[in-house]
Amino acid sequence: MRRDSAHIPFRTCLACGGKKDKFTLIRFVISKDHALMPDPGQKLAGRGYYLCPLMDCFRKLIKSRRFRKITAGSSAVQKQNFIWEYKEMIQPDRIQSLVGLARRAGKVALGQQAVQAAIKRKRTQLVIIAEDAAENTKNKFRELTNRTGGATVFITGSKSEWGRLFGKESTAVFAILDRNFARGILTETPRKMKKE
Ligand SMILES: [Zn+2]
Repeated sequence: MRRDSAHIPFRTCLACGGKKDKFTLIRFVISKDHALMPDPGQKLAGRGYYLCPLMDCFRKLIKSRRFRKITAGSSAVQKQNFIWEYKEMIQPDRIQSLVGLARRAGKVALGQQAVQAAIKRKRTQLVIIAEDAAENTKNKFRELTNRTGGATVFITGSKSEWGRLFGKESTAVFAILDRNFARGILTETPRKMKKE
């Protein structure tokens, strides 16, 4: 997949002030009735804010005067629910955070059959395979993506790491079904690992 830096929409992290590709940030909204809602799909209506998917930025945010101001109308329960939900979405690793967000938004195909189907229907631009997946699994998906017009294959993490993220014992392969999440993940990918 091509990365076209000219068309990446940037947003500012509310906590650290960093300007980043908006799809690498977590969005949350404050609704009319003052509820705070994480918005992994970046589509909810309401006043929207962006934050790095990092614990540091999250901690900074909830201690900030800015946060107190924007949540002035929200109840303690609304705030506490938000803190719980948000913490759950933040993983120690940015790629894992983004994959977790994509999963919550329903944009991940899990397991060999689902991934295979997604590739054949050209519904994916990014296939992620665990480093410790079997060689023939890696080869199979490399061949399949080559034959069907080239989704990017990215080999990273371990089967148990990915499994933990998805609430399974082990996950060898999955695909990201949304181009914005795919793009966000590739933005976080070290250059040498970008193309398998
Ligand atoms: Zn930040």
